[in-house]
Amino acid sequence: MKRDKPLASISLDLDNQWSYMKIHGDKGWEKYPSYFDIFIPHVLDILDELDLKITFFIVGKDTESEENRKFLKMITERGHEVGNHSYYHESWLQSYSYEETEKEIITAENAIEESTGQRPRGFRGPGFSWSWDLLRVLESRDYLYDASTLPTYLGPLARKYYFMKSDLSAEEKKARKELFGKFTEGFRKLKPYYFHLEDNRKIMEIPVTTMPIFKIPFHLSYLLYLSNISMSLMNLYLSAAIFICRLTKTPISFLLHPLDLIGGDQLQQLSFFPGMNIESEKKVRVFREVVNKLKMKYNLVNMTKFSKSVQLGQH
Ligand SMILES: [Zn+2]
Repeated sequence: MKRDKPLASISLDLDNQWSYMKIHGDKGWEKYPSYFDIFIPHVLDILDELDLKITFFIVGKDTESEENRKFLKMITERGHEVGNHSYYHESWLQSYSYEETEKEIITAENAIEESTGQRPRGFRGPGFSWSWDLLRVLESRDYLYDASTLPTYLGPLARKYYFMKSDLSAEEKKARKELFGKFTEGFRKLKPYYFHLEDNRKIMEIPVTTMPIFKIPFHLSYLLYLSNISMSLMNLYLSAAIFICRLTKTPISFLLHPLDLIGGDQLQQLSFFPGMNIESEKKVRVFREVVNKLKMKYNLVNMTKFSKSVQLGQH
């Protein structure tokens, strides 16, 4: 690895078919339908082609089925890292008590380790939910970092859009009232930092990087949306984001979601979802462009390597 380039991390929140259905208010999610058999081999091939080793944040509940475990195992066998993405993927994690949070983290951690052979060293909350108790639990279990914050002013706007497109009842919306974060999330720091806890304890926070100053997201879902308007617009936007990150010395933590990389042509069961009318081939083409652009300025690594370089002050 060349030392002349700074590091950027790539991670994927491995949300399964049921969690998309659940957050959208679709019936049938309670049976936990899975698309791992299609998605995981698909994404592993793309990552191999691009020579990338990334972090997959896994939901504990998905380890319950033997069929799923077969595919989860492939992730570590192919050289990727796993992180903890909670057990039940409920985006109101911040309303849990300390004991409930602890149970959620530990059950997920054990389930993920058992099914992948690797113990998660980092955590990302579902729907960017986090709390002080969550940080305390992570620190007490020797996690290297939390990665649950998305510093953007656009959270409430994204939530409004989501509710508009969903079939959620008023009650379900109430439970999701902090989905995608509050407006004040926009004031959070972009560069990795420490959350300071009691008794001089601390835990590293690695925010999902948004564009410095403007705090607008540029993770793959947004880039894909722009590429649908025009590929050159997407390229321009990404170049601007990289430029401002370099200018402000903001290390990049780049986030992927499954539906950014696969289309309704391969996942018919979710073909009604926003953005699923774009075919896999086009999505992969956009991802390839994005990765190649990032690679020109950064060495792309998993979250553990990234967090260690932050600790050593190499950014
Ligand atoms: Zn998620």
